[in-house]
Amino acid sequence: MTALRVTGTKEISRNIRAADKILGRVFGNPVLQGNDAVAVLVGCILSQATTDKQSDAANQALIKKYPTWAKLRDARVSEIARVIRSAGLANEKACYIKHALQYIERERGAINLDFLNDLSERDARKWLMQMEGVGPKTASIVLLFAQKRNVFPVDTHVHRVTRRLGWIDEKTSAEQAHQILEGLIPPQRYYAMHINLIRLGREICHARNPRCEICPLKDLCKYYRQSRK
Ligand code: SF4
Repeated sequence: MTALRVTGTKEISRNIRAADKILGRVFGNPVLQGNDAVAVLVGCILSQATTDKQSDAANQALIKKYPTWAKLRDARVSEIARVIRSAGLANEKACYIKHALQYIERERGAINLDFLNDLSERDARKWLMQMEGVGPKTASIVLLFAQKRNVFPVDTHVHRVTRRLGWIDEKTSAEQAHQILEGLIPPQRYYAMHINLIRLGREICHARNPRCEICPLKDLCKYYRQSRK
């Protein structure tokens, strides 16, 4: 993916290291815990295009109503949609979740994704993305959060913030950004930086009206420099 990189890679790497330190000081250094891959997948589908609060509420309701994957797999789509209404796009998400559980069981004989540990990152990502509703972001989140694999998920916040900081080019798509940022960020910092960049995006670097004046990264930010000219 070298061709996709913006110029000044060394400078960007220095900038990334500096930003990582600052974000660690301001937000802390989140530590990755082991998670069940199916639970991460379901949580990630629920979280698409909604807030954490709403997707968490939907997830809790789902766990309460369907304490096992088998019960969730056997439920009707309309019933699941009713339970997860708070997450928005309920019919679509209910469909994706039910079909994902059915697909995993059909292909693997059980609702379990531990076998992904034995695949290369590329193959594991490809396997996950065969399921409807699972794109590069969701696949990367499952691989990082559940399997501690060396992948860097790029959601809408990470995409926006890293473009503004100048780590990726303005025209870089989220899909391209996964590969570019994986080459720029040290793998051992993928999780902490993913979490901290999302937090920066949610709390400070809003899509509209970023609060640059209080941003801890303003001295490193291309958007801020340009906006002051
Ligand atoms: S300085 Fe402004 S644009 Fe740059 S990362 Fe911070 S909030 Fe976002």
